[in-house]
Amino acid sequence: MCGIVGYVGKQKAVTILLEGLKRLEYRGYDSAGVAVLQNNHIDVAKKVGRVENLVKEVARHQLTGTTGIAHTRWATHGGVTDANAHPHVSSDGKFALIHNGVIENFASMKRFLLSKGYTFSSETDTEALVNLIAYHYQKEPQAGDKSRFLESVRRALMHVEGTYGIAVVCSDAPGEIVAARKASPLILGVGEEEYIIASDVSALISRTQNVVYLKDGELVHVTPKRFTIITQAEEDVSPIVNRVTWTVDATELGSYSHFMEKEIFEQPAALENTMRGRFSADGSTAQFGGLNLSPVEFRQLDRFAFCGCGTAWHACLVAEHLIERFARVPVEVDYSSEFRYRNTPLSGNTLFFMVSQSGETIDTLGALREAKRKGYKVMAINNSVGSSIAREADGGIYQHVGPEIGVASTKAFTSQLMVGAMIALYIARMRDMSFADGVQYVKALKGVPDLVRKVLEQAPHIRNVAKRFARYNDMLFLGRLSLFPIALEGALKLKEISYIHAEGYPAAEMKHGPIALISEKCPTVFFAPQCEIFNKLVSSIQEIKARRGPTIVVTTEGCEIPAGLADEVITIPDCHEAVLPIVATVPVQLLSYYIAVERGCDVDKPRNLAKSVTVE
Ligand code: GLU
Repeated sequence: MCGIVGYVGKQKAVTILLEGLKRLEYRGYDSAGVAVLQNNHIDVAKKVGRVENLVKEVARHQLTGTTGIAHTRWATHGGVTDANAHPHVSSDGKFALIHNGVIENFASMKRFLLSKGYTFSSETDTEALVNLIAYHYQKEPQAGDKSRFLESVRRALMHVEGTYGIAVVCSDAPGEIVAARKASPLILGVGEEEYIIASDVSALISRTQNVVYLKDGELVHVTPKRFTIITQAEEDVSPIVNRVTWTVDATELGSYSHFMEKEIFEQPAALENTMRGRFSADGSTAQFGGLNLSPVEFRQLDRFAFCGCGTAWHACLVAEHLIERFARVPVEVDYSSEFRYRNTPLSGNTLFFMVSQSGETIDTLGALREAKRKGYKVMAINNSVGSSIAREADGGIYQHVGPEIGVASTKAFTSQLMVGAMIALYIARMRDMSFADGVQYVKALKGVPDLVRKVLEQAPHIRNVAKRFARYNDMLFLGRLSLFPIALEGALKLKEISYIHAEGYPAAEMKHGPIALISEKCPTVFFAPQCEIFNKLVSSIQEIKARRGPTIVVTTEGCEIPAGLADEVITIPDCHEAVLPIVATVPVQLLSYYIAVERGCDVDKPRNLAKSVTVE
């Protein structure tokens, strides 16, 4: 959440900062702002709303400097107002700061600063930090051979409780930025005679693919000619410059109307990328390069635990189903935010998987640290190479689906399902699954991209269904077994982007409560694929119809839904149980997308949400 970008170089900073902000806007869009350093003075322009509002505001300012910082906000402390927008400037005008995260002890800091004569013009936690930096700058004018700017930021941060990714400019230090992080992501792009600070690579790949991932507790001091990294304890850090493989094209819309649409249609290729190189030569099992556990160590595990938030948590539930079903090993699934504080008892031979597209989800990072503190080995499943979760885990599996920009996750979700299915296979083949069954399973996984393509061909039909159902205010999603999490995911997707109240339930639970909601005003999306309990699924649909509930039935091609039970039918190809959740997800992604478009919603930037939740 929240996008940070900073620039030091030879170009006009504001142009590069605004381009970076546009690419980061999916991280927060309550307000946007920019501060540029020129002639030893900091000029700030900020505005509530989207980056396009800021672009208009910037046109009224003369921002010609070549050093600056910019921010898109996802408000935590203080309303969505111009005054609360970042950057925040210290009351002596010397410093401007942008911040991602929460300063938990800002109230006591603010009291102290007020007593020292500093003034405040916003309700944010952030403003306390920028004034504290100014306070240290005044208090310790001598920094010896150290940079006084860097030193005042370092000292101020020693007093901060909470989380931050920050970038700061100082009117006495032209051409310099100090940036630092604790729990919130921050990277440094190393370009040709220029440096870019950003919350994620999408803001800088148009200028450089060389990046340094800052670690927790590190500060970077950027000057026109060099950068230095130190820790909070003043140790020098030797930076490692990594090469990013994502390209600019991957962050552009192309011929699509929305990133969500683009990412739904990218799924066949994304799934191929997730699988690439990950099957054994004999085609009977999966293999992963980054687990850092030998097969012998892996075989000794007697339990697996998965943590995730939101959509990733649904992927965890599917993984649980598949591992227990095919490998017959018990699996625990927890919301990351609950696991952190719940103190769950687990056996010693448990392996954790932390699932997060961005690898920066703060709750999942917290869960990872808690699991490690308890002495467990932890694997990361995420999509961003070099992310905090990937770095802190003992090993992991990258999803390799390229950048996901749409706030509502689509391709990252199906790819997490794919990783889960592959893990289930890997564990199963170490236990009771035969060679022949393994070969069948691998074939099924390899066939998924084509099955997804077949579902995508039905987009025009699903669009028509969406038109018919777009005006309802409530919707239920029902499914059983591995499709219960997909019912949850369908409901989440719909409410996220169309603001229709939607709930997912195991289909048979309907009669224990949700059936009270059924009426002609509350349609149900019902997953009824060909399976052993098909007749029971049909009975549940009967119960809905008996109460005049409209129905959209997602079923397998060739499967007969008795007459009168389905107002609309969406078919999916017949497939192996392990891949059914992936294939069944696609229709509900399309349905939610088209319903949201039909309702005129801002699909890629749903209200109150933002990508990559980096606050608790
Ligand atoms: N806590 C800060 C605020 O509310 C930063 C929020 C963010 O990460 O965007 O302004």
